[in-house]
Amino acid sequence: NRRWVLASRPHGAPVADNFRLEEDDIATPGEGQVLLRTVFLSLDPYMRGRMSDAPSYSPPVKIGEVMCGGTVSRVVKSQHPDFAEGDWVLGYSGWQDYDISGGEGLVKLGDNPPHPSWSLGILGMPGFTAYMGLLDIGQPKAGETLVVAAATGPVGATVGQIGKIKGCRVVGVAGGSEKCRHAVEVLGFDHCIDHHAEDFAEQLAAACPQGIDIYFENVGGKVFDAVLPLLNTSARIPLCGLVSGYNATDLPAGPDRIPLLMATLLKKRIRLQGFIIGQDYGHRIHEFQQEMEKWIREEIIHYREQLIEGLENAPDAFIGLLEGKNFGKVVVQIGPL
Ligand code: NDP
Repeated sequence: NRRWVLASRPHGAPVADNFRLEEDDIATPGEGQVLLRTVFLSLDPYMRGRMSDAPSYSPPVKIGEVMCGGTVSRVVKSQHPDFAEGDWVLGYSGWQDYDISGGEGLVKLGDNPPHPSWSLGILGMPGFTAYMGLLDIGQPKAGETLVVAAATGPVGATVGQIGKIKGCRVVGVAGGSEKCRHAVEVLGFDHCIDHHAEDFAEQLAAACPQGIDIYFENVGGKVFDAVLPLLNTSARIPLCGLVSGYNATDLPAGPDRIPLLMATLLKKRIRLQGFIIGQDYGHRIHEFQQEMEKWIREEIIHYREQLIEGLENAPDAFIGLLEGKNFGKVVVQIGPL
């Protein structure tokens, strides 16, 4: 059994030395337990937060502990009445080949799920985040302008596509022309602006002639700076993530723009609300699943996955995810189906 443990806490961007590959024997399940073999491991931006010991909504991974992560696994041996050999399950085994579980939190995926890895993306946590954040906090109405960054990632791509279903004018922000082309041509966004462009703020303003009614916040930083002056009265901002700052070691250099932010929120009566998907909306997962499964069946939602082969490549893929080197939902395939 190979597993990646947290070797040290990063200062700034994570580096290979923050992870250590360990190997031990495959454990045997006891009474009431199952042995799981990981097939797919999800890599997600929140893992950067767990590598740090700063206070957050979830406790950090301890030094020497296996890196956390959502997984899709097969049951290899079962001593648990609810699970049989061969079952597909969604769980939280982390960055390792095998795991012993008492069954808590495991979700069965049925026999022969058509796309088992999708439970880590469009049909799972990121898709659910997009759905609830946009519909419950964003409250989209037909004709409104919706802006979302990280537009080709699993959250952003889903936000924009649901926005289109609801009749919004959708403007994406993404890193590079290939991602922007994908957002428009495949995902159906009205525009997509490359945040690397020198005149990014001007391009964003030109793409939003009626201002911005909903800004789904995934990244923060200079994208938020460009969005702030374009926000309309009564705009909504679902505050989902701030990935541009996850590797930051300090606050950005001044001037202090909090007064500008506060005055904008006040004068334009803007609603900005943070949310953590599982904690705030866990009880609404079935509503999401029903709706999303229908949209996928009807082929009105497109999903792009980036499959990485081999557990050994997980740290590099994760480091790249925080830098925008991924193109689509990052999933590591650890073993055969
Ligand atoms: P993505 O696959 O979209 O990966 C992150 C993307 O962020 C990168 O690909 C990159 O895309 C973009 N990015 C990175 N740095 C910058 C930067 N400096 N400026 C602009 N964009 C940058 O991730 P997810 O879809 O999984 O997650 C998106 C966001 O949602 C994250 O902030 C994540 O933490 C958050 N999230 C929050 C949840 C919650 O419960 N609140 C649950 C799940 C996710 P590009 O190259 O296009 O710029």
